[in-house]
Amino acid sequence: MSIQIYNTLTRKKEPFIPLEEGKVKMYVCGPTVYNYIHIGNARPVIVFDTVRRYLQYRGFDVQFVSNFTDVDDKIIKTANELGEEVGELTDRFINAYFEDVSALGCGKADAHPRVTEHIDDIIAFIEVLVEKGFAYESQGDVYYRTRKFDGYGKLSHQSIDELKVGARIEESDIKENALDFALWKSAKEGEISWDSPWGKGRPGWHIECSVMAREHLGDTIDIHAGGQDLTFPHHENEIAQSEAMTGKQFARYWMHNGYINIDNEKMSKSLGNFILVHDIRQQIDPRVLRFFMLSVHYRHPVNFSQELVESAANGLDRIQTAYNNLKHRLSTSADLGDQPDIWIHKVDEAVRQFETAMDDDFNTANGMAAIFELVKMANVYLLEKNTQATVLNYFITTFERLMEVLGLPFGGEELLDDEIEGLIEERLTARRERNFSRSDEIRDLLKEKGIILEDTAQGTRWKRG
Ligand SMILES: [Zn+2]
Repeated sequence: MSIQIYNTLTRKKEPFIPLEEGKVKMYVCGPTVYNYIHIGNARPVIVFDTVRRYLQYRGFDVQFVSNFTDVDDKIIKTANELGEEVGELTDRFINAYFEDVSALGCGKADAHPRVTEHIDDIIAFIEVLVEKGFAYESQGDVYYRTRKFDGYGKLSHQSIDELKVGARIEESDIKENALDFALWKSAKEGEISWDSPWGKGRPGWHIECSVMAREHLGDTIDIHAGGQDLTFPHHENEIAQSEAMTGKQFARYWMHNGYINIDNEKMSKSLGNFILVHDIRQQIDPRVLRFFMLSVHYRHPVNFSQELVESAANGLDRIQTAYNNLKHRLSTSADLGDQPDIWIHKVDEAVRQFETAMDDDFNTANGMAAIFELVKMANVYLLEKNTQATVLNYFITTFERLMEVLGLPFGGEELLDDEIEGLIEERLTARRERNFSRSDEIRDLLKEKGIILEDTAQGTRWKRG
């Protein structure tokens, strides 16, 4: 069985066959960095991190790229309001982004390109579009000529005229057509800008992804992903730019995740129900947040409510408890010789169920159901008097493998207070003996376990981070 992916481009589930056998080139649109990300921004990060993990589990070599939009109107406006340089503001929120998503268990991409690092590539790309007649200069701006690109509208499955009505774009005398979009914007007085053949200015939003995907992954990529709100115009415009440039298909599979509602209402500034990851992860264990997000298939809307988050917390707890019990029993079990195949088969059956779910367009909700089957089985097995190390280990490693795919690896056992005190004592001795490599090692070990040390005149204090 191969993996099936729902492709927005064809509106069908299709077997996933990458261009190059065994390799996947994947691009996910990243955030515009002028604030902390909210939980709506976090959903695609978690979802596509999980897609990446499952593809890796299936043996694919995944090359994963996700960009940062680090110059645009909102960034410039916010920087002005805060009296900060654009670069300072974006650096700050890029760091905050990494903190937030790593707390949510998301790995770093192979590349996180930024617009401001690719201005020359962007200008060169636009120049070719102008040469080919797909773009034109107008009063210092450069626009994409949408009428010239035959496939315009193919991702959103609408004709160019339908899109025009739907988008309610105002006619202007700067553009030939209302749907034409800016590739290059001339700079206003005092704004951050770069020199170009069309005067000082900066790139429009859509062009960056076409350029950075090509620079980092090549002309044709396997999977292009993002939130469903990006389908039009952003992704439609990316296709128009890239395919006009190369004459080749830009992305073979387009994946889009659904929205997040808060207590069944749309998340919006006016309703004041915007939830920032930075804030919410102080209140809710980020592992629970991730588990909650994955408890719904990525294409469906997620409803964020206290009740559903609590139920996710309980679910995660049940898995952790079964896992802990297995580990605990392992310390008192021995192998008795004959292999209890029946339990091994049962575990394998749950793994197959998990893989079938994930093969079906990454259905994490059903994948979790398979993990809960495994929990039930483990609990039944643990009732047996003579459990065997082989079976216990098989359960344990299976739990570890499947939870790793969901980006929820089991944490190591928590350190007890006594153990922490003991290590701090050992560190002090090491320092007295000027064995600094050992003392650093202990500090790092404690840091890994979330223990923060503070050296004071009265001695070393510690707290759990
Ligand atoms: Zn993009």
